[in-house]
Amino acid sequence: MFGYAGKILKVNLTNQRAEELPTSDYAERFLGGKGLAAKLYWDEMPPKAAAADPRSAVIFSTGPLAGAPGIGASRWMVSGKSPVSDPEHFVHCNLGGRWGNDLKAAGYDALMITGRSERPVYLFLHDGICEFKDANGLRGKGAIRTRRILKVEYGEGISVAAVGPAGESGAVMANVIAEDDASGSAGLGGVMGSKNLKAIVVPQGKLKIQMAYPEHFKQLAARYRALGKEPITAVAGVPMRIMGPNTRRAPCPLCSFDCIRRTYESKEGDAGKFMCQSAIFYRPMAEAIYGPDSDIPFRATKLCDEYGLDTMAVSVIIGWLWRCIRAGILNDQNTGLPLSKFGTIEFLDTLLHKISLREGFGELLAKGVHKAAESLGGKAVSALAPLVSKAGQENTYDARLYPNTALLHATEPRNPTPQLQEISRVIFKWLEWRRGEDGAFVSGEVARRIAARFWGSEIAADFTTFEGKALAAKMIQDREYAKECLILCSFVWPVMEARFTPDHVGDPTLEAQVLTAVTGREFDESSLNRVGERVFNLHRAILLREGHRGTADDRLPELWFTEPIKWDMPNPNLEVPGPNGQPVSRKGATVDRSAFEQSKKEYYRLRGWDPETGIPPEAALRALDLGDTAENLSQRRILP
Ligand code: SF4
Repeated sequence: MFGYAGKILKVNLTNQRAEELPTSDYAERFLGGKGLAAKLYWDEMPPKAAAADPRSAVIFSTGPLAGAPGIGASRWMVSGKSPVSDPEHFVHCNLGGRWGNDLKAAGYDALMITGRSERPVYLFLHDGICEFKDANGLRGKGAIRTRRILKVEYGEGISVAAVGPAGESGAVMANVIAEDDASGSAGLGGVMGSKNLKAIVVPQGKLKIQMAYPEHFKQLAARYRALGKEPITAVAGVPMRIMGPNTRRAPCPLCSFDCIRRTYESKEGDAGKFMCQSAIFYRPMAEAIYGPDSDIPFRATKLCDEYGLDTMAVSVIIGWLWRCIRAGILNDQNTGLPLSKFGTIEFLDTLLHKISLREGFGELLAKGVHKAAESLGGKAVSALAPLVSKAGQENTYDARLYPNTALLHATEPRNPTPQLQEISRVIFKWLEWRRGEDGAFVSGEVARRIAARFWGSEIAADFTTFEGKALAAKMIQDREYAKECLILCSFVWPVMEARFTPDHVGDPTLEAQVLTAVTGREFDESSLNRVGERVFNLHRAILLREGHRGTADDRLPELWFTEPIKWDMPNPNLEVPGPNGQPVSRKGATVDRSAFEQSKKEYYRLRGWDPETGIPPEAALRALDLGDTAENLSQRRILP
């Protein structure tokens, strides 16, 4: 099979058995990455099993383009039931760095793990063998420390994905920390920990895939570069790419883009990742206490990675604690946390330690900030509400500011970051143009042309109305689900805006052309997006089987309907393109409930789902070649 390693490894930790499945059984309908993981999960996971149940499946997957050079194709994915979402639901997280490429170089497109080991173990996959190794000596060790210890044992030529103490204790915001400090959120580190699985080790390999049409691939890669695609490196003027004498580029394997991926070396000689959200999450607090030039923001990121905690989730906890301190709800005495030292590195270390080891107030926080707020009740609950999205994550791309994000937030159990980034990419480029930055080219008119090509209508770029947003949501989701089957990096795909085309509109056909060149299977834009639609519907079927209630759960935070928006960190003036691309302020806007509900019905109709319930009928699933899924849901009396 061109593009693929050809095998999936299925490991059961309870009986320490491993078996191989042919990727070809899955690739035709689901391609790879997100689609492959969704199908494996659908087949394996009992719907009522909890995230921490031994039967729970956690899946590591790569895409058919991983190994294709120069196009940002080496991302990989961890999928499983998230203990963070309430109720627990199937989610994916998308990681960079080299571990995914090394898994594929070891001969596997995906690795699925079920069961629970009686004692702590780590897996060592090499030469077609899966070894179950004793991890007792690694218990309680940080995720990065674990990697270092394993490298002392096996040498530098290995690649490690591990969990820290937070994963071992099952903290719901524990993440997987892999080679190059790549981190995957959604609490799947806690799922790994619940299986007594400390780490997965693969040899570092030189991934080289067989392509069906290598010369055509080279031409497409050249065309891709010629469009002038630039990775996002700043958000509203705030650099996400941290520069300076102590930083250096740290691209994912085979990727030529100078994106945000950077490592940093501290004054003490400690080095590690330092980019994007993880680099800035503690910066405001640290700068207020230590000044602008300290290593504290880097050390804060490093501490989170070492404990194996998600910086996004920690960010929300910190924001909530701050609001509770100011409201007089929490203090040093009633939490046992040094809240009076808020913003110091000692405060953060104690907080992370207590969450990871589930000590005192940390035990409450380890169950999730929502549960912590609810257990305190009253003002503690209202202190949290402005900070979070419907998914209970950090409130990013609020639908009061960007109505285009409403249906994306409403229909997913987690913040659908790649989908939201299709919108933020256009907005942030437009804001650069509004500020008159050198070389900025996404004017209101260009935004409308991009919307017409990528979101189905020019009016989809009018951020003051719900008109056109149902079709835009469907198009974004289908394309992004397809993209995550491949798995292409969201920093550089899709090519929506292009510096060097006459109208500055990019090319939505490139993904399909590249896929054809690599795999030899014929795809065009429409047939590739159809795969995305199939995987989206399979994902919907999984959610329904896990208890999702259709329209009742396709909702937004109540506060977005009632509380006017006042401020947004990346877009402080709340400016958006309005009618005819003219700038409009969204200050004081709320989501129009009736327009949202109408848009939701229109969206269901476009998907072929029941417009009243939001549940796909059997015929809609069969039309997407999901007859087996339809039958299963029918037997469970879930379908209308
Ligand atoms: S653009 Fe950056 S994050 Fe994306 S694959 Fe390339 S190096 Fe990795």
